[in-house]
Amino acid sequence: MPQLSTRVTSINAGGSDGWDVFYRARAMVAAGERVTELTIGEHDTGTDARILDAMHAAARGGHTGYAMVPGTPGLRDAVAARIAARTGVPTTRDNILITPGGQAALFAAHMLACDPGETALYVDPYYATYPGSIRSAGAVPRAVITRADAGFLPEASDVDALAGQTQARSLLINTPNNPTGAVYPRATLAALAQVAEARDLWLISDEVYDTQVWEGAHLSPRALPGMAERTLVIGSMSKSHAMTGSRIGWICGPVPAIDGLVDLATNTTYGVPGYIQDASLFALNQGDDVEAAVAAPFRRRRDLAQAVIGRQNVVRAIPAQGAMYIMLDIRATGLDGEAFANALLDAHRIAVMPGESFGQAAAGHVRVALTVEDTALETALTTLCAFAASLAHAPAV
Ligand code: PLP
Repeated sequence: MPQLSTRVTSINAGGSDGWDVFYRARAMVAAGERVTELTIGEHDTGTDARILDAMHAAARGGHTGYAMVPGTPGLRDAVAARIAARTGVPTTRDNILITPGGQAALFAAHMLACDPGETALYVDPYYATYPGSIRSAGAVPRAVITRADAGFLPEASDVDALAGQTQARSLLINTPNNPTGAVYPRATLAALAQVAEARDLWLISDEVYDTQVWEGAHLSPRALPGMAERTLVIGSMSKSHAMTGSRIGWICGPVPAIDGLVDLATNTTYGVPGYIQDASLFALNQGDDVEAAVAAPFRRRRDLAQAVIGRQNVVRAIPAQGAMYIMLDIRATGLDGEAFANALLDAHRIAVMPGESFGQAAAGHVRVALTVEDTALETALTTLCAFAASLAHAPAV
């Protein structure tokens, strides 16, 4: 076999990709075992039947050929209108590229921001693909470490120091945050915006959880003064409309950036299927109520999870202000997140994600996706707490 490129062989930096417990759980399920899967951010509801009907109608109506590479004009207009309405920033279709999901948008944004070998900053804890997405784009990922006792919010002074030291080209942030549930307050975003301006960074703002806010309010940094020209917003229908498998998202940015990204898309993805775009347009046209209905179970389960955790004192919950997860501090068990997650899977067939999959700041934690129905979630969390208590040699309640 000819040699593999270092670009591809180094995507995971020689370590694991962070998904091992998830793969083990999936293998158990494939072998016929019953596992409570609280790993990935996938809704238990599936895509709304009306959206699927719209997809079917579009495909049967003939929208199965190559679609326009930047996205259909109708969908680009609808995404632009949604963003303009929510942020107050004038936005047109020329500011929007439709992508095959937020993940492809993350990759494309780094391709745009960084030349090979240049540094791209990201915040730890992070969504598991961030460093690999940056490496895939040929850039060098450098983490800005946050602390649990500071709400996992990045300090502008840390970003500034690292940007200066590395001559970084971009900073990737995510609010509402996966895995921590943090919703960045205005002061944090304003301080980061100042650093981005001073250091001439692209601010890549991953806002795929913008419809899942339980406390505070979502603020897009693109709406801060002067930031529209250096912010690339990553959006997606995955979480807002339970359309994870449809692979549809977008990048919103300045027109010259979108023009460059259209060239990139022409030579990589060649766009997104037209019938998926038509279904997405239909979904967006249903208005905010559909999004609120998709988000509602996660708010309810966040409260439920916090109530279960509140009944004991071995496992500590990080208060989730948004997104579809809850982070649990399990350090009192004496195990790290990975050992705890593996032991929990073996002992009780409950699968959660080790904090270490999301970086060093989340070590000793596990992330629980709130993606099973309420009773199953309550049972799983009660079992998890009792298991943690048994490891910590503490009473369960
Ligand atoms: N960004 C974050 C923070 C995520 O959690 C995810 C998926 O879980 C994505 C981006 C990618 O989402 P998608 O590619 O499904 O739009």
